[in-house]
Amino acid sequence: MSKLFICGTPIGNIKDITIHCLEILKEVDIIACEDTRQTLKLLNFYGIKKKLVSYHEHNKKIAGENILKLLNSGKNVAYVSDAGMPCISDPGADLVVFARENSFDVEIIPGPSAFTTAIALSGLNTKQFVFEGFIEQKKRAEFINRIKYEKRPTIIYEAPHRLLKTLQFLSNELEDRNLFLARELTKIHEEIFYGTIDETIKFLTENPPRGEYVILIYGAKNDENFDEMSIAEHVKFYLQNNYDLKSAIKNVARDRNISKSQVYSVVHKS
Ligand code: SAM
Repeated sequence: MSKLFICGTPIGNIKDITIHCLEILKEVDIIACEDTRQTLKLLNFYGIKKKLVSYHEHNKKIAGENILKLLNSGKNVAYVSDAGMPCISDPGADLVVFARENSFDVEIIPGPSAFTTAIALSGLNTKQFVFEGFIEQKKRAEFINRIKYEKRPTIIYEAPHRLLKTLQFLSNELEDRNLFLARELTKIHEEIFYGTIDETIKFLTENPPRGEYVILIYGAKNDENFDEMSIAEHVKFYLQNNYDLKSAIKNVARDRNISKSQVYSVVHKS
């Protein structure tokens, strides 16, 4: 029975690839990839010659069908994205579901991810954190609702041309939180910067963004002690801070680690 292999590839340093991943890339019949030019660089470095097919966000329906045909004809297929782990802010998840729905096994070959690399480099004691990936432009208000009182650090990805705009937006919407900025991780120009949002804006104004960035936003310092509030008071706190009822219930459930229906039942009674 043929298989789909989801393979993690380097986020920068080409040597950050596992022996297992190289073995799989050598053994499979076909490699599906986001951008064939990008994957060719990796394969050429390791002397791997393999047929490539493209699978990306904009062709995933047709490309997915073609990959299914390959699996049905007994071929083993590996999928790699441009960098890091497929399916993490990258295509791949639909392919995983599609293969499994069609009764094919999916094997995972883990590799680096930019956000885990940044967290480790930050030195932050992150027993818990929130990964938001790219902020959806049309859902920026909802993003702020989620993180405004979030005490755990939040990690986001951002493209260099939007970085300053995004930081300006954070500066307008949040208290001046601390940030850890990690640029070009594992590459020649790797660089880190610690500072408040406004200090980071100043730094980037003097050193215009270039390359790839992970931003770690430290947790909210709010002094509100939710433990001392009743559930009803806790909901009221969010409502008074301009949250709608649905978001307030969601946040209370998250803060107290209880279900939304438990919060809803209290709201419903009061
Ligand atoms: N699948 C990847 C992963 O596992 O992290 C993420 C792919 S996402 C399309 C690309 C974003 O990841 C970039 O815009 C940047 O925010 C972040 N990123 C990827 N490589 C990076 C690196 N070497 N240094 C810093 N950020 C990186």
